[in-house]
Formats: sequence, structure tokens, C-alpha cells
Amino acid sequence: MSEHPEVIIGIDLGTTNSLVAFADEKGPAIIDAGGDGGALPSMIGFDPESQQATVGSHARAHAVERPLTTVYSVKRLMGKGFADVSEDAQRLPYRITKRAGDEEGRDLAAVEIGEQTFTPPQLSALILGELRQRAERHFGHPVSKAVITVPAYFDDAQRQATRDAGRIAGLDVVRIVNEPTAAALAYGLGRSEQSTVVVYDLGGGTFDVSILRLQEGTFEVLATHGDTHLGGDDFDRQIMNLSAREVKEQFGAQIQAPATRQALRLFAEAVKIGLSSSPSKTLQIDLGQQRQYERTIQVAEFEAMIERFVERTLDSCRQAMRAAELTPQQIDHVVMVGGSTRIPYVRRRVGELFDCRPYTALNPDQVVALGAAVQASVLAGARRDVLLLDVTPLSLGIETLGGAMGKLIRNNMRVPCQATETFTTFQDGQTAVRINVLQGERELAADCRSLGVFELQDIPPMPSGMPKIDVTFLIDQNGILSVTAFEQRSRKEASIQVIPAHGLTRDEVSRMEQESVTFAREDMEAHRLISLRNQVTFDTTKAVQALAKHGDLVPAGLRADVERAVGELRSLAESSENCDAIHQQLLNFAQVTVPLAELAVSATLKES
Ligand code: AMP
Repeated sequence: MSEHPEVIIGIDLGTTNSLVAFADEKGPAIIDAGGDGGALPSMIGFDPESQQATVGSHARAHAVERPLTTVYSVKRLMGKGFADVSEDAQRLPYRITKRAGDEEGRDLAAVEIGEQTFTPPQLSALILGELRQRAERHFGHPVSKAVITVPAYFDDAQRQATRDAGRIAGLDVVRIVNEPTAAALAYGLGRSEQSTVVVYDLGGGTFDVSILRLQEGTFEVLATHGDTHLGGDDFDRQIMNLSAREVKEQFGAQIQAPATRQALRLFAEAVKIGLSSSPSKTLQIDLGQQRQYERTIQVAEFEAMIERFVERTLDSCRQAMRAAELTPQQIDHVVMVGGSTRIPYVRRRVGELFDCRPYTALNPDQVVALGAAVQASVLAGARRDVLLLDVTPLSLGIETLGGAMGKLIRNNMRVPCQATETFTTFQDGQTAVRINVLQGERELAADCRSLGVFELQDIPPMPSGMPKIDVTFLIDQNGILSVTAFEQRSRKEASIQVIPAHGLTRDEVSRMEQESVTFAREDMEAHRLISLRNQVTFDTTKAVQALAKHGDLVPAGLRADVERAVGELRSLAESSENCDAIHQQLLNFAQVTVPLAELAVSATLKES
């Protein structure tokens, strides 16, 4: 018996960032022992004096001042012959040298730092070592086994180099997994039914698409395609070029200084990221001498700027489909990977090509590491069958006015399933609605688990109660929940995807079910109180509006009675939790306001 439980970690050894994850009964999760959200920059910095190596954000912080001793993009060198990397070597600031040949007599690429020479696996091992230490800090005991992911197009030499890196870092690499396969595993695909899956991976500088066939737990890569120089950086550049052109037109100034260009690049990226969640974003640049450049970019304009790049990714998808001899109709699921797939336009265009809603429930920067962890837990013999049932373990719904839980899908419903309910706004002229997706059996939102929050924006201003917002919950056969809010008149839509089973254990499900029984009485009272308070708000607002609308027509005595009744009812509803008392006061209020209602009706009749 070993002293510690068998732990196998999952590692995404990325070109720009690397992550480590672990899957337990709750599902896969990123290990964030570095305090940077779990993403370790894949950079190694050597101190020019001591030659000591540091990995991650520290190395990145010194990259500009130490170009010759900071190594990044080492993944591009893994398992490559010296001759193969000549193009990359020209772009990379550090020195790449030739090392004695391998068995096939190829000269290999290595990196020269001062007096020392490092092989790419030795450098990658430093990154893996840091990830391993993070995992050990997290678990409080040694970790020696890992699953590591590589791009689907990696050849044998590149895969072997990745294994070597693991070994040097003291890790037994129990399996090398293709990145797209890991992404599919993170979504729990391929567990039962046979399916064909597209993994669309659009990052900062690269684009890849892979088509996988999944059956009975095996994954076959049918085709891959991509472009090693296409990604979010191109989108940033579009915004930068636009600004540079306009600055020249308006001020006759060129943006040339490296520091200003770098600042503009960061502003452009911030605008791009902002446009993923707002209809417009403004970019401001202070050009000195009291010259201020300001430009608002609308989503539609941004979409026009990036259209040709997105079109190129879709072409790659079409080529991959041709290679696999498949049509879009034969694709069952599309999984989104990489930071640039957060852009709604990218999601929309990919969805249109494959005529489906792409999977976006998981963080696109983390999905590969999460999938590596799922594979690791399978290899470690972990079982997680209870929450993979074909029924929903707990009810799902949204937070409604006053903090109640409005259930749309009850527990123990068979999946796939769908439910729609129509909601409205509560304030006149309200143009946005916040939707909090909840899971649990209790009646109050505060006692349920929030799975995610999103906003439906840009609703045209209308009186309260007028907008009709259809909220639809759809759980597919893989247990992935899509929640969509759709305003009927403006046809505005917003949505979110989540995996309700992640983060829950069998025990927690039982506890939540038990609590709903234990607290049934209190919950019912709490729910009743919320409904009564909502009714008080509604009735008193209508009465105040009627008083204002009919002005002088309302006799002074009646006006005083109604105003007093409004004040009393509101203060009771605020201060008391006695449902019966509030209910009684609501009935009294209705009596007091009868003459006002009659007056309103006769005034309306006269108007017509
Ligand atoms: P990756 O290479 O997968 O880490 O992706 C990084 C790219 O994703 C960069 O170009 C980022 O600017 C971009 N990105 C990250 N978040 C967003 C977002 N919310 N909207 C648009 N692009 C994003």
C-alpha cells in the first residue's frame, strides 16, 4: 500500500501558457497554486549572472530586458531537427544551435544560454517541474505521474521529446493525449454513443481544427487542418491599423515609438475583449500636446474587420471535412478551444457552418488541461458514475424577482430535455435583464448553487411588464446545459452554457435533496413572503401611478386615504415577515383603492 492515494495529474504543455489539472469525484478542476488563475506562462528566464532559471510570470516580466536569456515558444522546437526550425530561429531572439544528430543522423536544435546549451526537452522540463511543484503544494504530497497533451499533428519525434521532458522533470508520463481529444474528454464526450466531433481551436497566434470519431471510449483523429499564423493577434492588429490611420488623418501624426505602439496594442486588445460582452467600446490615446484621439467601435464594425480571418478558419474546417469525407450534417458536436473563441461572432459563424450550437461551457483556455485530467483519472481507475446518469440530479432554474428560485427543469428528469418560460421586466424602460442560473431544491436563490450569470442587453425601452422574454433551458444527451434568453419584440438573444454535474459529488446531491425536505416548511414561508412583497410593490406602484395620472380628478379625501394606505402597506412589507399580516393588509389596500380604480376606468372610458 502506498502512503498517499494514487494521483495522476493532467498537463497542458502549451506554447504560450501551461496548466495543470486534476479530476476527482467533482469533475476536473485547474490547480491554481501559483495565484495566477492556473495559467503558467511557458517562459524560462535565466539570470544573466547566476544563470539560475525561473519559470512563468517572473521570466515574462524580464523578457524585454533579457532577450537573449529568456526562452519562450520552446514547444515549437520540441523534437525538431536543426534544419526544420530555421524559420522560427529567425523570429526568436534567443540563440538556437546545432546539436549532435539523433539515431537517424539528424542534427537537433538546441538553445544556447551563455556558456550552456539546453535541449528543448530540458527546457520544457523546467516548465513541467514548476507545474509538478504546484500540484505537490496543492496535495501536500509528492506527485510522480502525469498525462501530457500535444497537438494532434505532432509526429513521433515531437511526442518522444515531450515524454523525455516529463522524465527529466521526474514525471512518469503515463500517456500522451492529443489536445483535441482532451477537449472532447473534458466535455464528457465519447462515453457511450458513437459521435463525430469537431474541435475548433483559435488562440492568440494559431488556429487548428481537428475532426475526431469517438466510439466506445476510443478517439480517432480523422483529419486536422490549420494555420500556425492566424489568431487573436490579427484581430488586435486590425484595430491598431484603424487607429493609426485615423491618428494620421486627424493629427498628421505617426504612431511609431515602440512604447506607443505597445500601448496601442494593449488598448486594441482590451477593446476587442470588451466587444465580446458589450455592443460598443471606446479607445482613447493621449498623443501629448493636448491631443487626444478617441474612437468608439461598434460590434458590427469589428465583425466586418475580422470577417476575412474568420472566413479563413471556416475554409480550414471545410478542408478538414473534405479530407475526412464528411459533410457538416454529419458532425454531432463542435467543441470550442482557445481564448479567441469567446468572440460571439466566431461562435455564431462556426455554429452556422455546422448548423449547431458549439460547446462553450468550459473556459476555452482551460479545456485541454481539464480533459488531460479526465484522462488521468480514468487511468488512475477513478469512477464517477453517479453523476453521469441519464437524469438531472438536481433541479435547475433562474433567480426571480425578490430572490426566489424559479425552477424550469425538475430533478430526476430524463435527459435530453427542454423547458421554456416567459418572463418580463419590472421597471419602466428597463433595457437589460440579469439572469442567474441556479441549481438546487431549495426555494430561495441564496440556498441554491449559482452555475453562472449572464445579461440580456439592448432591450428597447418599454413599460414594465411589456417585454416578453423567453428563457429556455436545454440539456443535451451529454449533460451540457444551454440557457437562452430571447426578447420577442426586438429578437435580442443572449445565452450561456454550463455543465451542471461539474463540482458536485454524490454526497452533495444527497445533502441538497435532504435539506429541501428538512427546510420544506421554512422554504414555503420564505417563498410566500417574496411573492407577497412582490405583490405589494406591484399594487402600490400602480396606485401611485394612478394618483399621478388622474391628478385633480381624485378627491382630496381619497388621495389622502390612498397615500396613507400606500405608506402603511410598504412599511409593513419592509419591516414584517408575518405573511398573514401582509396578506390581510393587501386585502385592505385593495378595498381602499377601489374608488381609485373605478375612477381610472371611467376616465379611460371618457378618453376613448
Ligand atoms: P490563447 O492563445 O488560447 O491563450 O488565446 C489568447 C487570445 O484570446 C488572445 O488573442 C486574447 O486577446 C484572446 N481573448 C481572450 N479573451 C477574449 C475575449 N473575451 N474576447 C476576445 N478575445 C479574447
